Amino acid sequence: IAENNHYQATRLLQMLRQIQSRYHYIPEAAIEQLAGLLNIPRTQIISVVEFYSFFHLSPRGQYELLISDSITDHMLGKKNLLGYLADKLAVAVGQVREDGVVSLDNTSCTGMCDQGPAGLVNGYALTRLDRSKIDKIAELINQQKPLEEWPSELFQVDDNILKSGLLLDQQFEQGAALKSALKRGVKETLAEIDKSGLRGRGGAGFKTAMKWQFCSEEQQTERYVVCNADEGEPGTFKDRVLLNSYADQVFEGMTVCAAIIGAKQGFLYLRGEYLHLYDKLQDILEQRRRNGVLGNNIQDAGVDFDIEICLGAGAYICGEESALIESLEGKAGIPRNRPPYPVTQGYLGKPTVVNNVETFLAAAGIAVNGGDWFANIGTEKSKGTKILSISGDCTRPGIYEYPFGVTVQTILNDCGADDVLGVQIGGPSGTFISNQEFDRKLAFEDLATGGSFIIFNASRNILDMVHNFTHFFAHESCGFCTPCRVGTSLLQKQVDKIVEGHGSAGDVVALEELCQLVKNYSHCGLGQTAANPILTTLQRYPDLYQSRLKEISYEPGFDLDGALETARRMANRDDAGAHLAQTQMESEHE
Ligand code: SF4
Repeated sequence: IAENNHYQATRLLQMLRQIQSRYHYIPEAAIEQLAGLLNIPRTQIISVVEFYSFFHLSPRGQYELLISDSITDHMLGKKNLLGYLADKLAVAVGQVREDGVVSLDNTSCTGMCDQGPAGLVNGYALTRLDRSKIDKIAELINQQKPLEEWPSELFQVDDNILKSGLLLDQQFEQGAALKSALKRGVKETLAEIDKSGLRGRGGAGFKTAMKWQFCSEEQQTERYVVCNADEGEPGTFKDRVLLNSYADQVFEGMTVCAAIIGAKQGFLYLRGEYLHLYDKLQDILEQRRRNGVLGNNIQDAGVDFDIEICLGAGAYICGEESALIESLEGKAGIPRNRPPYPVTQGYLGKPTVVNNVETFLAAAGIAVNGGDWFANIGTEKSKGTKILSISGDCTRPGIYEYPFGVTVQTILNDCGADDVLGVQIGGPSGTFISNQEFDRKLAFEDLATGGSFIIFNASRNILDMVHNFTHFFAHESCGFCTPCRVGTSLLQKQVDKIVEGHGSAGDVVALEELCQLVKNYSHCGLGQTAANPILTTLQRYPDLYQSRLKEISYEPGFDLDGALETARRMANRDDAGAHLAQTQMESEHE
């Protein structure tokens, strides 16, 4: 494995993926050997293994089943299905079966919210799980059938493109974008991208032309292009579709970027959950090399550029661009201090452009059609269209493309959503809007979004969503900085307490204070947005929180009376006087 990866420590993640897939864990002996071969400390390898949730230091089952814990999966009955699956396979959640054949656990959103409940088996996506599919899966596992022999319908992943527009309708020949860019001139093409008003589609909305310009102006000869395909935001799955059906155009956008900034190497950082796309994408890259639109001297124009695919390993934080670069370098995905930004010091300390899949797709279209093609659509500050991943309570979940400025109500009408209570826009880190706000617009001026659009109807309890999102952030915090590491776990505990009906008015006040602390003092976007689900729902539905509270001003976070059980047993007493009544606790607190 090390030899195939040219003994490059930057490829550590890829090597660990291969070891994990072969042995179902990372054995100590492999760590020792790798440390020697790559000339890096074994502790460094262990810290990487411990960081990513798809790597394990102890054996997992030959069949590793992970079931998505996204809120949309829960809305589709995931909890009951997981229990059914555990019974069928005779394995507890979080455990490996005694015979070592199968292990079962939860995982964060797998990017299949339009076709859940979803899961992964040895990294490959399982969709639309129901009892009959689970019966089949249990049977196949008990027979120890190799995955290649499993029925293909278990792995069927649909694009579900239900509304196309500027980007999804575009078709052009392989190589056309670079050809147009070179014909026009790379500087002139950058000017067209500037004119188009294209802003990064990951959510932050930084101007793409400006990013490319900054990178090209750096006094370095080595530069890199990175496509961020680590869409881990629950409710987001559009990049999955773009890479399945528009990969050529995405690679084309990366190549145009490379020609403009002068990069020779690009990376597609593909989230580990999209393993099912890996071979197909490799084939497309190979075909592009054969057709002279990738590799050396592309289109005989003296442009050298190639793209490598790197698979992630189950860490949401790697969607943050500096964490992604760390991961690409074979390290734990801990966000860097910024500045310096990747455009000046990115991959291996060299100037690097990191853009989202959709951004590169748009850039390719602009290179072919010119800036006005894009700028004529959208709003004043949000040009072009936005591709949305729509899921939750609607009859037609899937991919929708709209000009920026579309109202939430229009989208709800199109996807068949009735009796809607609210919509979570932009995933857990985004904003929850209530049914009083459906005239609001998707645009950087109003509701900025990376594309996740989760609908909740009136039968849903918003606190279930808050509970799910708060657990998600506590699980995904990288642990680097204290406000987020400790704060997200305290938020989770506090929300649990309130949701479970043990909270008091004082707990809500404390929760709000904690939210502000985590938001204001965390190192990166994850921590800074982790409190959003609480803050946006507290603001809109204060009564909902109040309705779960007890009629006391404070209740301790643990069972005080239960804690005295040992003392009661030792004293051989169990009369009323040996118990702490709630009323006593209240008066003592007052
Ligand atoms: Fe890591 Fe959270 Fe700190 Fe970001 S805010 S660096 S995710 S601990």
